[in-house]
Amino acid sequence: MVFYFCGMNNPEDHFKKVISHAKEYGFVFQSSEIYDGLSAVYDYGQNGVELKKNIRDYWWKAMVQMNRNIVGLDAAIFMHPTTWKASGHVDAFNDPLIDNKDSKKRYRADVLIEDYCAKIEQKIEKEVKKAQKRFGDAFNKDEFLSTNGRVLGYQQKIDSILKRLGKSLEHEDLADVKALIEELEIADPASGSRNWTDVKQFNLMFGTKLGASAENAMDLYLRPETAQGIFVNFLNVQKTGRMKIPFGIAQTGKAFRNEIVARQFIFRMREFEQMEMQFFIKPGTQAKWYEHWKDARLKWHLSLGMGQENYRFHDHEKLAHYADAAADIEFKFPFGFKELEGIHSRTDFDLSQHELHAGKKLQFFDPEDNKNYVPYVLETSIGLDRMFLAVFSNSLKEEILDNNTTRTVLKLPAVLAPYKAAILPLVKKDGLPEIAQSILKDLQWDFNVIYDEKDAVGRRYRRQDAIGTPFCITVDHQTLDNQTVTLRSRDTMIQERVAVSDLKHLIDTHVSARNWLKKC
Ligand code: ATP
Repeated sequence: MVFYFCGMNNPEDHFKKVISHAKEYGFVFQSSEIYDGLSAVYDYGQNGVELKKNIRDYWWKAMVQMNRNIVGLDAAIFMHPTTWKASGHVDAFNDPLIDNKDSKKRYRADVLIEDYCAKIEQKIEKEVKKAQKRFGDAFNKDEFLSTNGRVLGYQQKIDSILKRLGKSLEHEDLADVKALIEELEIADPASGSRNWTDVKQFNLMFGTKLGASAENAMDLYLRPETAQGIFVNFLNVQKTGRMKIPFGIAQTGKAFRNEIVARQFIFRMREFEQMEMQFFIKPGTQAKWYEHWKDARLKWHLSLGMGQENYRFHDHEKLAHYADAAADIEFKFPFGFKELEGIHSRTDFDLSQHELHAGKKLQFFDPEDNKNYVPYVLETSIGLDRMFLAVFSNSLKEEILDNNTTRTVLKLPAVLAPYKAAILPLVKKDGLPEIAQSILKDLQWDFNVIYDEKDAVGRRYRRQDAIGTPFCITVDHQTLDNQTVTLRSRDTMIQERVAVSDLKHLIDTHVSARNWLKKC
């Protein structure tokens, strides 16, 4: 069997295939599509909702249920408006925007500059590929990257641009951000024009109103992050759960941001879901916990087997107003390395601010030191939809088979697959559907399984390949004689004869979170 990865040589084509496959197979639809859709808002279909739930569960298992000192929370989306004053979002949750005067298109100024750097990075990758070809097996990538003059020049250019951008943003020097765009001669990607307006700040929060009458209505925001729901409940959970520092509170839920430019499918949405954990620690221990959580989170990603080379850390040059250290785990999406998860050392900023604005103490009494303090916080924050895109785009492959046909297969990590097995009677007669149904009824207690009796069995296999089902169980005439079935593996396409009574154990070995998470 010859394998090639879908669109591997052309990431743009691959990304197009990802979007169309997600729609065609019931994973992701544009919101309100019959009304021509709503920009950057998406709905998850019958298979997408299962994949999304499985990613959420995999995170919850690792973060909450496998850590005795981390507990869950489900805070409301609406919060008292002072929350957002205290957290700094009213004053500082801004992105720098710039308009092109000719095309009238709006962009995030920092993203235009980052995309410029990504193009230089592509040049480095090209140099690496060329050298790889030239030197063959003797090629040492690390040595090449650290000694080749041209590559070093490119890298220096990227570093100095990003450093300057970081500094200008930190000091709110928007004139310098514009100057940088002009100096680099960055053109509008849509029109090629370099006729830019000044850079302005744009607040990303969505406002709404609570209350029936116009006079008494209260201005509210849709939460732009789930984290603040955790901070305002810090004492409730600590006291009622008798939690001792260090301990964490985790939650998953919707967040809303009025993104300036929302593109790249579900990578940047206006309504999205976050999976966040705030870990409360003793002041002074943040450096140790920062390293701990960077390491733990990367291991969680690697446990899914999506290739170590597809992840990298990016340390922030520009720190948010609340942070004393921050890094992103970046993933190689079809459009390049981009942020998938953030790990932030948030100091005591949030709790102290809420103390100030609410006039209530949010402190922990440490029996060892016999004193009260405002805990420091280490945050891990990942977008569920971005994780969905990472998993989905990495799993979608096209393979050329021995008989020269092509199969499209979604090689999802089995623990995340919407259905773990499909049960297929070979024909719709001779009592085979009844046996298949009884296998289905038994297995569905333990796994999400699906039944399919339409079309030739080969076509049914392909349908399951396309939605990522790791196993197909075929009931045939031999089943009537000896209670065995064929078990076909999605990835190898190998079929083996197994006893019906062994199915549960065999499937479980491949799909249980226990076996996947153990790799952490
Ligand atoms: P970016 O720089 O891409 O705008 P961010 O640094 O603002 O992201 P955080 O505020 O750290 O993101 O949010 C934590 C996580 O939430 C991100 O790592 C990302 O996975 C996810 N996320 C943030 N904004 C969006 C969005 N608009 N759509 C989908 N996921 C998002």
